[in-house]
Amino acid sequence: MSLYENMRNQITGNIQRMMKGGASYSDARWYSDDSCQQFMVLDGNLEGNDTTVESGVGVRVLYGGAWGFAATSSLQDVNRCFDRAMANAVSASKLVKVRLDMGSMEGVTGEYTSPFVTDPIEVDLAEKVDFLREVDDSLKEDWILRRMIRVQIQRLGIHFWNSEGSETRRHLVNTFAHMTAMALDSQRQMQRRSKTLYCDPSGTRGWEMLTNPDLWSGHSDRVKDELKQVISAPELEFGRRSVILLPGQGHLQVHETIGHPLELDRILGYELSYAGGSFVGLDSFGTLRYGSDKLNVSAYGSIKNSPGTFGFDDEGTPERDYLLIDKGILVNCLTSRAMISEANQRAGRQVFDQSGGASRSTAFYRAPIDRMTNVNILPGTDGTLDDIVSSTEDGIIVDNPTSWSIGSNREHFHFGCEIAWEVKNGKVTRVLRNPSYQGHTIEFYNGLTAVGNESTWTVEQVENCGKGEPNQVMELGHGVPVVRFDNVVSGERR
Ligand SMILES: [Zn+2]
Repeated sequence: MSLYENMRNQITGNIQRMMKGGASYSDARWYSDDSCQQFMVLDGNLEGNDTTVESGVGVRVLYGGAWGFAATSSLQDVNRCFDRAMANAVSASKLVKVRLDMGSMEGVTGEYTSPFVTDPIEVDLAEKVDFLREVDDSLKEDWILRRMIRVQIQRLGIHFWNSEGSETRRHLVNTFAHMTAMALDSQRQMQRRSKTLYCDPSGTRGWEMLTNPDLWSGHSDRVKDELKQVISAPELEFGRRSVILLPGQGHLQVHETIGHPLELDRILGYELSYAGGSFVGLDSFGTLRYGSDKLNVSAYGSIKNSPGTFGFDDEGTPERDYLLIDKGILVNCLTSRAMISEANQRAGRQVFDQSGGASRSTAFYRAPIDRMTNVNILPGTDGTLDDIVSSTEDGIIVDNPTSWSIGSNREHFHFGCEIAWEVKNGKVTRVLRNPSYQGHTIEFYNGLTAVGNESTWTVEQVENCGKGEPNQVMELGHGVPVVRFDNVVSGERR
């Protein structure tokens, strides 16, 4: 019997045992492989070269309206792991106020493999380091004070079974990279310019993604050129003006002020003690005007190549493309199946009817929680970046965050950015340093006056979204066009 057949028999047998013991639902994830490599090259020195390999089983049991979770890295310990999950659920069932259920869903079977040509974990270590040194070399200049290259590669094999007969297998590959150059400006303040590896949405995500110069390494000359302009540029003055976000900044704006506030567990208060809450309430869906009618936001978005695309979530739900915001009106949230019954019970009516396929866990030893998949602003009808600039009277174009500070309920935000280009009367006039902008989330999105077309839309990667206690770091994507917001407070009062 193969290891897979052996594990399948053990896990499905135990799931049946839990159901006979009174569970209303049970599932298990076996990570046959969870390999990760991280590299950091700082000023040409290989400062970080870490490899981790993990494998094991995580089990959930729903009993008496309460969850129990347990995990083990020993494949000899699977039976006892199920027993521990059941014991945890039985204990918790004596304390629950809202009895949870998973609703009903037909069992799902399927397999998903991330698109890739060359498995990035299997590439020879020397070849990896040589490539990163080459990228580092391309950033070298006398006037550049610090160079930083960071790369993270992941490979996962995840097998899922549940008590409804679902059986899914996933083989996931992710490749992340950042390059940053830093230099002192005339005030002896450190300035930076960076480039993050982004996705060709119809491309692949193996080693070939990292070495494709269009997506990352070929940007070093532009990074240096723009940094040189920043260090001799005047500072952005405080005032209200239009702010045009390039996707390098727009994706974080979406992440922090649309993605996080629309996570259902966060709306229900599960993250209050750590990541925070949400200004969105259960009564906001279908009624709240989140933004102008130019704002259309989707979850997943049928993006083939993204870290937020994974076939099936950690409850076996197939990925689902749906709108979160429709012409400015909030219509849906990011959710697992597990949160829906609680939300509907608390609202006293059916607010949500199906999972968003957003139940995700960072490792076999963490219980899945509600996470972002791909949260995207859909392309609009306001043309190219040049078209948007030409219709802007007084504004700035900004790219890439240097700092961010977000209200705990995501109702306010303040971002610092690496670079701004001033726009006066439809023309880009000069580069400005220390750009920043701030706002009230709802007011800001209602000031959305231009959404770029498909030519301005890129899929940006996030590999370090933090949430959950104990912390779970998750990877995801954001497809965003160039977007313009009017009457935005920007710059700092000095
Ligand atoms: Zn996040």
